[in-house]
Amino acid sequence: MKRSSIVIAGGGSTYTPEIILMLLDNLDRFPISQIKLYDNDYERQKIVADACEIIIREQAPDIKFLATTDPEEGFTDIDFVMAHIRVGKYEMRDFDEKIPLRNGLVGQETCGPGGIAYGFRSITGVMELVEYMEKYSPNAWMLNYSNPAAIVAEAIRKVKPDSRVLNICDMPIDIEERMAYIAGLNSRKEMDVRYYGLNHFGWWCDIRDKEGNDLMPVIKEYVLEHGYNLESIGKEPRLNDPDWLKTYRFASELYKTDPSVLPSTYLKYYLYPDHAVEESDPDYTRVDLIREGREKRVFEECRRIKECETAKDTTLEIGVHASFIVDLARAIAFNTHERMLLIVENKGAVENLPLTAMVEIPCIVGSNGPEPMVIGEIPWFQKGLIEQQHAVEKLVVEAYFEHSYQKLWQALILSKTMKDADLAKTVLDQLIEANKDFWPELT
Ligand code: NAD
Repeated sequence: MKRSSIVIAGGGSTYTPEIILMLLDNLDRFPISQIKLYDNDYERQKIVADACEIIIREQAPDIKFLATTDPEEGFTDIDFVMAHIRVGKYEMRDFDEKIPLRNGLVGQETCGPGGIAYGFRSITGVMELVEYMEKYSPNAWMLNYSNPAAIVAEAIRKVKPDSRVLNICDMPIDIEERMAYIAGLNSRKEMDVRYYGLNHFGWWCDIRDKEGNDLMPVIKEYVLEHGYNLESIGKEPRLNDPDWLKTYRFASELYKTDPSVLPSTYLKYYLYPDHAVEESDPDYTRVDLIREGREKRVFEECRRIKECETAKDTTLEIGVHASFIVDLARAIAFNTHERMLLIVENKGAVENLPLTAMVEIPCIVGSNGPEPMVIGEIPWFQKGLIEQQHAVEKLVVEAYFEHSYQKLWQALILSKTMKDADLAKTVLDQLIEANKDFWPELT
């Protein structure tokens, strides 16, 4: 089997070790010759890279490893770029969450004003990675996890429509794993799903087991009572994360808005924005929890591995986040024709949405990339909501490339999370001030 060469862009991410552990766990299915880490923050990446070097040396010493901040070194001789960068890091996520909340609006990393602000930063960073890949390894594929995926995907479609970039998200994977447990199965891989929408803005319309039996009724019955929270069947993996437990439970309210389908949890921010604001504390948001929790835990463990010069008893774990990216790389490398949810240009797959919308739908993935499956017509409720959000994303991307204050203001006004146009202007001006080192100047 061919061995692939990989660069993980955003090497300093707390998700990098779990991607590497997943890659090492799958070498029989997806052999690897080389793993590189690339980041533009040397110090941050070094913490993670020192530990990853030891993990790789112990588990697969024949894999070449290097960590670099030099794009040429990072992107040369590569088959896959696995990208998960966060432009502005947690310092800027802090503003994305807190500026809207202090104005009484949804303060979230990828939805509403915070997502728009992050999108404006992310476009620059992700486009830079696409250019490095095309310059130094033009036949490579980029598997991009960098958020906000919907805005990043639209920007790439607009200026580099032929680039070999696949935009992906682990949210549906997480929920599908939950649905599988609810239906009494062991894994999401025992199901075939049909799903449509934009990233962080979609619905499942059909879920079946491999014999073709309809699993929607049993999953719906459970979701009506518990949402996607698995505590009542004793299978909840996130017991120590009260925010997520509430979010999973709240899916029961989202479900009631259209019981013919099953909702993405992120719809909470658009359908129940006041509820989302009420349950948030503008002085202590997700980013504070992550800094004190996940980031601290992963970095302390990386430092411990470096100090002991071994990872034999490590607490670092493989996660669902990583499993999807490995399956996708494998589908391309070995033409597996696996069915996966990807963010792709609509081109008529959802019949009554614009042709150029970047929709999240099932695709069959092989060596030539994704072949989207036909969804057909979707109902008015979803169509209306999607078109509104789609217009927001289009306006954000146009505002970025045209440096247009007017269009970015319109994007904020149009977001279903926004209350009125004056408030949108106030928030926009505060976001411009906070992002002045990252955003293009708007006129
Ligand atoms: P993180 O801050 O821990 O790591 C991101 C890394 O990116 C940092 O080390 C930073 O220095 C680096 N970086 C920033 N700008 C860069 C640039 N221009 N070039 C190279 N490196 C750069 O962030 P995280 O929490 O691990 O998240 C990383 C990304 O993955 C985010 O966009 C996040 O939203 C996304 N994410 C996506 C999913 C999904 O399913 N789509 C799930 C989880 C996280």
